[in-house]
Amino acid sequence: MNEIYLDHNATTPCAPEVIEAMLPYLSREYGNPSSLHRMGRRALIACDCARDLVAQLIGCSSDEIVFTSGATESNNMVLAGVTALATKRKKVVTTMVEHKSISEPCRALATGGFEVVQLPVDDNCVVDLGVAANAIDENTAIVSVQGANNEVGVLAPLKELAAMAHAKGALFHCDGAQLLSKVPVSCDDAGFEYASFSAHKAYGPKGVGILFVRKGTARAAIEPLLRGGGQEGALRPGTLNVPGIVGFGEACRLARQKLAEDGERIGGLRSSFEEAIARILPSVRINASHAERLPGTTSLTIPGIPATMLMANMPYLCIGDGSACNSGAPEPSHVLLAMGIPWEYAECTVRISFGRGNSPSDVDATVRSIARAAERILSLMPENSMPNPEYVGRVQL
Ligand code: PMP
Repeated sequence: MNEIYLDHNATTPCAPEVIEAMLPYLSREYGNPSSLHRMGRRALIACDCARDLVAQLIGCSSDEIVFTSGATESNNMVLAGVTALATKRKKVVTTMVEHKSISEPCRALATGGFEVVQLPVDDNCVVDLGVAANAIDENTAIVSVQGANNEVGVLAPLKELAAMAHAKGALFHCDGAQLLSKVPVSCDDAGFEYASFSAHKAYGPKGVGILFVRKGTARAAIEPLLRGGGQEGALRPGTLNVPGIVGFGEACRLARQKLAEDGERIGGLRSSFEEAIARILPSVRINASHAERLPGTTSLTIPGIPATMLMANMPYLCIGDGSACNSGAPEPSHVLLAMGIPWEYAECTVRISFGRGNSPSDVDATVRSIARAAERILSLMPENSMPNPEYVGRVQL
């Protein structure tokens, strides 16, 4: 059986146009953009063109883009960089469902004397704005909230949260890693001071990303994580990753062209998948299905069937067990637990994330494979490992 790739929230394939655009910068155009000679100038021009393309996709101006190695670095940079300069405000507000590249730096801040508040979410993974309004106060330096959750795909009420932060004089950061190329983003309209993105989540290469840093007060309120040459306005020194940046630019150009069409088509694949799987396996729960979600993401709990067992029974399906970034970790996803999903159900949850390369025949094959594997596993299970009826119904279809 051919492999079917259904893990676009973990990473995406590089678009052929992206590879094509990068090739010259991996071979003959190897100049350093900081060099004054002609090859250097050409590399600089290529990076500037890419900077414009990224800015157009995320709705900001080109001089607000700082190239980094990816969203992990951007997230660390903003949290460490802002809190280093925050002398009076000693609180950071975030959520319980952030990626580890936010929650781990927050843990370090808590050890260093900052108060870190992790806002809870409801059973659809939505942050309660009332709780947020109480938590964000005059002592808050920065509010950091993900744009979309990587495991269940739920979109956060970013505009409302940014407005709350601003009303108290706090800065607002969005971890936008899961938004890029999936839903429209406008840093200007949303009122972010900072936003993090990775190219490889948007059909670009791995190892390159950006931190959007709004001009003015926000720029003055962040300190660099690294010290070195003056690249990226001295905010992120180091020789630019020219091929990666060029590829990122091309990925953004394509995303702008394809965003609406991709969203509709991929959303359609997800809907037909969810309808078919619920018909064939009535015990399936689709997590966070009542919230506004990324078009291609679906999180499925099949009570009584551990995700690892399901995946081992259909090795040709490339799907996620909750979150690829947590794979190998023994405990179930913190996101699912924060949504109130009991441990034994969280363990029985897989994430499927459709993308540009998927077709309706992939949906049919996936539904059939899951149904067959689930039936096989259930037939081997003892009776008493079946789902707890008290819980069935809490996660809405
Ligand atoms: N934030 C979120 C929400 C993510 O999904 C990811 C990637 N899984 C990251 C940050 C980190 O991105 P990267 O691994 O590209 O640094």
